Amino acid sequence: MLDILIVGGGMVGASVALKLSRAGLQVGLIEKQPVTVYDPQSTVDLRVSAINRRSEQWLTDLGAWSLLQQWRLCPYKRLQAFEGEQAGLTFHADEVALTHLGHIVENNLIQQALWANFPANLQLFCPATVTGFEQHADYASVTTAEFGELKAKLVIAADGGQSQLRQLAQIGVSGWQYQQSCLVVTVNTEYEQQDITWQQFNESGPRAFLPLPGKQGSLVWYDHHHKIKQLAALSKTALAEQIQQAFPAKLGKITVEQAASFPLARVHAKDYVKGRLVLVGDAAHSINPLAGQGVNLGFADAMLLSELLEQAFAQGQDLADRTLLKQYQSTRQRENALMMSAMDLFYQSFSSSLPPVRFLRQLGLAVAEKAGPLKHWVSRYAVGIS
Ligand SMILES: Cc1cc2nc3c(=O)[nH]c(=O)nc-3n(C[C@H](O)[C@H](O)[C@H](O)COP(=O)(O)OP(=O)(O)OC[C@H]3O[C@@H](n4cnc5c(N)ncnc54)[C@H](O)[C@@H]3O)c2cc1C
Repeated sequence: MLDILIVGGGMVGASVALKLSRAGLQVGLIEKQPVTVYDPQSTVDLRVSAINRRSEQWLTDLGAWSLLQQWRLCPYKRLQAFEGEQAGLTFHADEVALTHLGHIVENNLIQQALWANFPANLQLFCPATVTGFEQHADYASVTTAEFGELKAKLVIAADGGQSQLRQLAQIGVSGWQYQQSCLVVTVNTEYEQQDITWQQFNESGPRAFLPLPGKQGSLVWYDHHHKIKQLAALSKTALAEQIQQAFPAKLGKITVEQAASFPLARVHAKDYVKGRLVLVGDAAHSINPLAGQGVNLGFADAMLLSELLEQAFAQGQDLADRTLLKQYQSTRQRENALMMSAMDLFYQSFSSSLPPVRFLRQLGLAVAEKAGPLKHWVSRYAVGIS
């Protein structure tokens, strides 16, 4: 029997698998999709994430960051929020005495860099299709079509926002679908590699730029479902024209490489723990991607859970010990709920066309720009060092 069986080898699940197998636990990892190795000739993955410094440290400790530095990533020193073409609020790494605020990294490269570090004692079940999950007094088991029944003292669900394990365990969720979707577009830019990520707020939704290595960038366009559907159906040339009209002039000239739309949902599991099952990452919480916090919160789950499990393993304690898992749940559920609510407040205040709300947010941006200590604290929190 395994100590730990992880379902889902994406960014979060792979990081837990790597950490715990290195600590000497018998770990198994089930992943449904084959995972490719890094190819320097590959085009940039459409899915990218803003990785804060706390997550960077986690990936450094796991040996993945040095690979990403050799492969592809893009640091940013400035983060800007504004309305229309106004100046808005800018955070600069220099203000908090840092070399950078974060990096934009392709999701599949993070996954590949973690997988490239997997030790020989980690048992991989990939590709595999999960067909069942059961809990018993001393173990839990996951059945797969390809590898049969796999048993472990603790099962960790890291299988993303639609978590099959969460559903099989009948863990309820709270949340909703937002009235908007977003279109993510990889573009070639006329400007050389940039060190700024910005968001322009509009009543129909924000528009964001994330810098990528070389003369490339990732754009995120939030709008009503019907508008995003229309945009997603356009040819690359027609979409580029729409982008040039809708995005601020500072974007410069672009051409479109690839685009895809994503629904926006807020989903929070009512419990992160049920018997010998524990949820991490998007399986536990999906957050509005507006502030780029999703995988950073997932990595924070992974850090705490791994630390607690390593301690329990070293002391010969049951890995599904109730007190231990409740400590994980209460700490992470509180922080994740706080971030989700803060994002919603931010999102709603920036989507409102009501004159008093508009006035307050313009005032808010202006005051925040001038308020040294507040700005300093927000910068440190955003980069994950507070
Ligand atoms: C448009 C958009 C932009 C975003 N931008 C950012 C950002 O800038 N910064 C940030 O921090 N976050 C961002 N996020 C959120 C981020 O992408 C997610 O939080 C992150 O992908 C979650 O990682 P995960 O490993 O928990 O889940 P996932 O990335 O969903 O990985 C789940 C893994 O489990 C596997 N799997 C699924 N089901 C099964 C199963 N039944 N059996 C076996 N394996 C299974 C999948 O194949 C996958 O490998 C963004 C999200 C969106 C939609």
